[in-house]
Amino acid sequence: MWRHLRAEPACSGRTCDRYAKMKLRETHLVRLSQEVFDVCILGGGINGAVSAASLAARGVRVALVDKGDFAGATSQASSNLAWGGIKYLETFELELVRKLCRARNRLSLAYPSTVEPIGFYMVRPKGFRHARFLMWVGTWLYWFVGGCFTKAPRLLSNKRIEQEEPIIDTECATGGIEYFDAFLHDNDARFVWNFVRGALDWGAVAANYVEVTRAARDASGVFHLAARDNISGRDIDVHARVVVNACGPFADVVNAQLGIETKHKHLLSKGVHLVVRQLTPSRRVLTFFADDGRLFFMIPMGPRTCIGTTDTPSETVETEPTPEDRHLVLRNINLRLKIQVPLTERDIIAERCGVRPLAVLKDKGQPGAVADWAHLSRRHVIECTGNVLTIFGGKITDCLNVGEEVFAIVQRLGIAPPFPEARWYGEPPPSVRDEFLRQASLMKLDAMTPKASSESLSKRLWRRYGGEAIGLLESIREDPRNAELLIENAEYVRCEIEQAARREMVVKLEDFLRRRSKIAMVVSKEILRNAEGLEEACEILFGEEAKAKLEEYFTPKV
Ligand SMILES: Cc1cc2nc3c(=O)[nH]c(=O)nc-3n(C[C@H](O)[C@H](O)[C@H](O)COP(=O)(O)OP(=O)(O)OC[C@H]3O[C@@H](n4cnc5c(N)ncnc54)[C@H](O)[C@@H]3O)c2cc1C
Repeated sequence: MWRHLRAEPACSGRTCDRYAKMKLRETHLVRLSQEVFDVCILGGGINGAVSAASLAARGVRVALVDKGDFAGATSQASSNLAWGGIKYLETFELELVRKLCRARNRLSLAYPSTVEPIGFYMVRPKGFRHARFLMWVGTWLYWFVGGCFTKAPRLLSNKRIEQEEPIIDTECATGGIEYFDAFLHDNDARFVWNFVRGALDWGAVAANYVEVTRAARDASGVFHLAARDNISGRDIDVHARVVVNACGPFADVVNAQLGIETKHKHLLSKGVHLVVRQLTPSRRVLTFFADDGRLFFMIPMGPRTCIGTTDTPSETVETEPTPEDRHLVLRNINLRLKIQVPLTERDIIAERCGVRPLAVLKDKGQPGAVADWAHLSRRHVIECTGNVLTIFGGKITDCLNVGEEVFAIVQRLGIAPPFPEARWYGEPPPSVRDEFLRQASLMKLDAMTPKASSESLSKRLWRRYGGEAIGLLESIREDPRNAELLIENAEYVRCEIEQAARREMVVKLEDFLRRRSKIAMVVSKEILRNAEGLEEACEILFGEEAKAKLEEYFTPKV
């Protein structure tokens, strides 16, 4: 059955079982050690999440574990773009661009309310390495390679830039070009979660904060995976016929632990974004060339602007933004904007930092010059060693292809799915959306939209929850206070938090504030600490543990 039609009514404030979220994870922890799975997926970033959804929808028995929270690593640190990679035209990776454009088009068609078309307003600096005409030709080539799917590119004079985007300093510019791609309206991590939720609805067994440390294979070919619940410290044994290593930048370490030899490995590239106040009301990605010649973006993020990114080699997976990273991002943006007072560290509301796992062949060695580094390919590779698949590299944009490829390989390994043709991604059909909108309009939902919201409540609930949003309407009908904002500026209403408590495996406050929602990206920690509704939100999420979870969140990590 179509998963989005199985919308359970959300619980209302007073009737909600406040411990349901513990039940969800606990139940899955027990099942993890009791069943023998066809496939166990390690890592719940985008690649693990799509693999789980693609396999579970087809009836494959799937386990999915992540050593931290789902999307807690690279998949929460992206630029939120679904894009064809125009910059790879420079390295003549036409085939990669064609594939990424097709992947972008497919995502946009499957998720029309989440993956939104957006203009990239690219400014050409004086003395740039490519002539304006060449860039103009390049954007048209990009448009053709992308199947003419987006709006066509537009040439910009300095005068037009000044009229349309007065914040851009045109002194050092020689016009520009607007071309079109797409972006994830809510957040990359939320996008990932929706695949995990889909996999759960199709019967997958999943748990966050479960780390796999070792594996052995018995005579019948079944893997015995030794795992640890990182919350309770308990050991768990998971049994599966096939293992998918979707640990992103950790994949090489995990393969070493599992004793798996591969031809590929990862090189890591660190990327930092800074979130600041909204710098321009326009819904475009302002696109500049940074001092080192790389593309550099100002991306809309709800009521804020996200600036970045850096692209520097990293030896380690766990990284934090350094003062140099912040300086680099702020310097690059201050040089290109007309703002009276330049942005400083004090203007930073939140930071996003992660490492890109870049797939390279082991015998190709380390990249030497910086230019080689920036030009390393962003393609993905799935390598199969016996019954272990490792997913190397890739982009969120390409996630549907990863899901399909993993499914095809698992089939080749002898796992026969009962529903090979089942659809595993995409928003519910228009008939479900129309029914949601009809019910929302009958109860005058949009009149309840909290003041200062950037869009109507019905639009937002539909985008975030698809068919599950029908259950939220039921909750608001029961008690209109469920349509109230709990935390100012956060754009999350009470019934959404109750839904998260029940259905979204929130273990720590950060899971909700940073990944199920993007509250921690748009409201600074200082403001959050004093936010009136935060305690109530915590009680809904954690019941008696609310105080401890609040403290855990605000205690600086050492
Ligand atoms: C700065 C930046 C900007 C980017 N921008 C874009 C963009 O705009 N568009 C785009 O398409 N792509 C973008 N990307 C690329 C994209 O974000 C990544 O390719 C993608 O998120 C990688 O996902 P993943 O699932 O492979 O890895 P991850 O998201 O890192 O997931 C791996 C998971 O494995 C878990 N794990 C590790 N070890 C274990 C273990 N032993 N047991 C269990 N679990 C384990 C980790 O906890 C982690 O959650 C960007 C990347 C960066 C860094």
